[in-house]
Amino acid sequence: MPCTPPEPDLSDHPFAIHMATESYVSPYERRWLAWVKKAEKLLGHSIDGDQDRDGYSLDGAHDAFADGLTIEEYVQEVRTGRDEPDDACTDPSGHEWAYSGTAYGGDDDSYFGEGRCYCVHCGADGDA
Ligand SMILES: [Zn+2]
Repeated sequence: MPCTPPEPDLSDHPFAIHMATESYVSPYERRWLAWVKKAEKLLGHSIDGDQDRDGYSLDGAHDAFADGLTIEEYVQEVRTGRDEPDDACTDPSGHEWAYSGTAYGGDDDSYFGEGRCYCVHCGADGDA
């Protein structure tokens, strides 16, 4: 009768047990998730946005987190970024330009009746 050695049973080996624990979250990841959660709570919305369009994103938030910013500092940064008068419109769809001139039915006869160009939502100056 041939003698075959028994297969070693590794199921009780610590390494096997570790591999079976799929839901392992590293302390770093745990800290990051808690950070995001609190930042979202303070901002009142998800931070999974478009960095260029919304001024915030998960990537941007992670950069801030990795840079050691506190949640409050990051939230402040997102808010300040959004209030930037530069090119942001109060309307989510963006600026909608109109003319105040008489040529467009307005009462402004400056610039040969064209008046000034302005945003109908936030009043931003389109000529600036
Ligand atoms: Zn606007």
